[in-house]
Amino acid sequence: MSNHKFKTEVSQLLNLIIHSLYSHKEIFLRELISNSSDALDKLKFLTLTDDNFKSYKFDPRIDIKFSEENKTLEIIDTGIGMDEEDLNKNLGTIANSGTKNFLKNLDENNKKDSNLIGQFGVGFYSCFMVADKVEVISRKAGTEQAFKWTSDGKGEYKIENAETEKDGTRIILHLNENGSEYTSKWSIESLIKKYSDHIAFPIFLEFEDTKYDDKDEDKEPTKETKIEQVNSAAALWKRAKTEISDEEYKEFYKTISHDFDEPLHYMHTKAEGSLEYSTLFFIPKKAPFDMYQADYKPGVKLYVKRVFITDDNKELLPPYLRFVRGIIDSEDLPLNVSREILQQNRVMASIKNKAVKKILSEIKELADKDAEKFKEFVENYNRPMKEGLYSDYSNKDAILEIVRFKSTMVDGYTSLAEYKERMLEDQKNIYYITGSDENLLRKSPLLKAYKEKGYEVLIADDDIDEIIIPSIFNYKEIPLKAINKSGADDELKSDDDKKAEKDATPVIDKIKEVLGDKVKDVKADTGLGDSPSAVIADENDPSAQMAHILKAMGQSGPEAKPILKVNIKHPLLEKYSTDSENFEDLANILLDQALMREGLALKDPANFIDRINKLIV
Ligand code: ADP
Repeated sequence: MSNHKFKTEVSQLLNLIIHSLYSHKEIFLRELISNSSDALDKLKFLTLTDDNFKSYKFDPRIDIKFSEENKTLEIIDTGIGMDEEDLNKNLGTIANSGTKNFLKNLDENNKKDSNLIGQFGVGFYSCFMVADKVEVISRKAGTEQAFKWTSDGKGEYKIENAETEKDGTRIILHLNENGSEYTSKWSIESLIKKYSDHIAFPIFLEFEDTKYDDKDEDKEPTKETKIEQVNSAAALWKRAKTEISDEEYKEFYKTISHDFDEPLHYMHTKAEGSLEYSTLFFIPKKAPFDMYQADYKPGVKLYVKRVFITDDNKELLPPYLRFVRGIIDSEDLPLNVSREILQQNRVMASIKNKAVKKILSEIKELADKDAEKFKEFVENYNRPMKEGLYSDYSNKDAILEIVRFKSTMVDGYTSLAEYKERMLEDQKNIYYITGSDENLLRKSPLLKAYKEKGYEVLIADDDIDEIIIPSIFNYKEIPLKAINKSGADDELKSDDDKKAEKDATPVIDKIKEVLGDKVKDVKADTGLGDSPSAVIADENDPSAQMAHILKAMGQSGPEAKPILKVNIKHPLLEKYSTDSENFEDLANILLDQALMREGLALKDPANFIDRINKLIV
């Protein structure tokens, strides 16, 4: 026998579960049954693909027993089972690094948020909400020795050798007060029906049936042990869509995702013909907590002819759809399909292709038909969808109908299609401005000229906008132009403007001379309103903001210098352009204040302040 301490993160998780999930305590049964189902999936796969298991007598089932007298509840499966090492690894640590990070970053405020906690799957440990002692007796299929794991969930567990008749796992819960209600046929049956009806293996419930004699009322009733199957045991995604209720879809989602919330949307496809497969996809209401982590857990399980193959393959869907949960079940793939084969397999590629198209068209439909739901979608998934614009070129047009942007014309978000509708007759481009601070962008002097013309400008404040929007080039043949890049405002200028700008050449040249290599160019402008100056980037350079980000990331490209736009109608210019004593200060102030307006830190702020003070005095 050996005693062990839980790893700190397990103790932490146990604490969290017991204190924050209390109102959801009944989910423990769903979690245990779902573990049993996974274990049966794994063994089923071996019996079909591994020569060592060719003659294995596989009788897949989950049995539930309870005793009101002993206050126990047992969940028994004939699945793959666990050996000593597995028990230590699986029921003593937390393997998922995403979960570990999540726990590390938890602060007092979100400790109570059960939705967040639910997202990463509390799994096995949830049984300590209803039990003060748990025994797990298990024998791994294909091995001789069984082991028993015992714990009270308070920091330690022990493992010892055990006896058992069957391969698989038997979990015995010694129920505490919170669990005392789970010792009746009715309560257990209704929980299984509610949470686990779709489990693809039969779940049997053992109970005592009391029989009264109809003829002789005084006769002692006889007790008989009965075993009944309580679930329908058909893979949900294989059933006819018309026969599956909304409720069933939602419960199925909760089982595969461990989410407490209902899904935002689901889509079920059964393809027949040259390629036969079923897919059932769900979009969670809230973005998975690890969506922006490189080691995110993929949410789609692959089945082949109802046999579970993998839930750990990030290539079943493209990375930008990593928030999608669900199932792909193919009739045409071989059972022993390896990761490498999967990668180059034509059947898989074709299913993936069709699945992506289906998901995108469903999201588009959501946008058209259910504004409220779609708003939630945008709030959670706009950013990954934008990633799709440059990573999934073949679906670019579909994705363009889904991504949303902020704008100078509407509150909230707008689509490119709506922008196009609102375009004025003489307007030739779709305009946008990039940067990291929405507030600063909305106040940018560069907007002035466009507002005056009545042209809408998209406020692109997402950090990836500057990379993805240029890659769009055109939307329905209308070019997209960044107004903080050179060349965008050509169509705005009247002949008078152009003449005024041309006439300013001497003073502009002088400013250029003073600023030297601090700028790429200096340009006269008439459209900056009250602002004396602004900076833009050359068409093919990163913007000042972007250059700043790249530098912070240690990426040294050629240094992209800003182009300074000078408002030749501004009084500052009228006053100082002929003042040779102060001209150098003027030129530098024009540049520095334009950079500051972008929210950028100056290289030499003291110098800027000195110059300002000098002019004021
Ligand atoms: P999760 O199911 O999310 O991985 P759990 O804490 O529920 O997390 O379970 C941890 C691991 O323990 C599982 O991944 C599995 O390997 C193992 N396990 C749990 N229950 C069983 C079971 N009934 N049979 C075999 N293995 C199991």
